Amino acid sequence: MNAFDLALSRLRPRLPSPLEPVEDERLARHGLRLLLKRDDLIHPELPGNKWRKLALNLRAADGRPVLTFGGAYSHHLCATAAAGRLLGFDTVGVVRGDELAGRPLNPSLARCAADGMRLWFVDRSTYRAKNDPDVLAGLLDRCPPGTYVVPEGGSNALAVQGCVELGRELSGAVDVAAVACGTGGTLAGLAAGLGPGPGEPPAEGGARALGVPVLKGGFLGAEVRGLQAAAFGGPRGEWSLDERFHCGGYARTTPALETFAQDFEARHGLAIERLYVAKMLYGLFALAREGAFAPGTRIAAVITGAPS
Ligand SMILES: *Cc1c(COP(=O)(O)O)cnc(C)c1O
Repeated sequence: MNAFDLALSRLRPRLPSPLEPVEDERLARHGLRLLLKRDDLIHPELPGNKWRKLALNLRAADGRPVLTFGGAYSHHLCATAAAGRLLGFDTVGVVRGDELAGRPLNPSLARCAADGMRLWFVDRSTYRAKNDPDVLAGLLDRCPPGTYVVPEGGSNALAVQGCVELGRELSGAVDVAAVACGTGGTLAGLAAGLGPGPGEPPAEGGARALGVPVLKGGFLGAEVRGLQAAAFGGPRGEWSLDERFHCGGYARTTPALETFAQDFEARHGLAIERLYVAKMLYGLFALAREGAFAPGTRIAAVITGAPS
């Protein structure tokens, strides 16, 4: 264990995260068993998939400053800022939307700033071009030498590799693992970890991952394939997407989604994060109603985060 791993383990992540069965008659009626994969309990300040996605990146950064990107409500920015404070490295967050500069910070960005993250607001066209080498070089010019870049949403090869463990923790215990998708990095790793290990033959009726994109657009399949290629050199595991449950797009909601989420909270006594987790659960219950899962299927819903 190197010094960084030691520092990380001192934060006492709850890993493997708990897997909790829940009784829900709406699924039991179809012969389905639901288990909640409580990644929201991994760490109070780096919850859910953000811990899994950041861990290998932060080890690679090895204490150097970290530059990363996100929207004004990005959980990834908050997690990176918190990690910087807890582990003692500098962080810069490039935030989409120069109109936000000079306005009071929203609670999410205020927390980033309180954790010591420097926030740079850039206009939308610059933000869109952030992976262009010249644009990135321009940003890095303003950073200390050796600054480590983590892409938007934290999804790169190391992040995907970090999420493999999520699949491994579920492997053998479930048949389907559902996860909400932003950039798709978590799904890419989850599917790989659920599948057979390197060199093992595919298991008959092996587990599969189901991604529920919370953004509109239909681009995510290509993203997940690209992330798996970067992380593993090719496709891994069984996965699919159901693109019907974004409810209008990122941070959009519908009365039906809100009703579903409140009802789920009342039935199961668990507060549900709305941007991602609610849409995944909503999609899962809709699919069950449609008869998408054979009786006897054990379904894990990955609770990737908690309400802030
Ligand atoms: C960031 C986040 C996601 C999306 O993860 P991706 O790897 O970008 O697909 C899902 N759920 C929650 C709660 C998140 O904060």
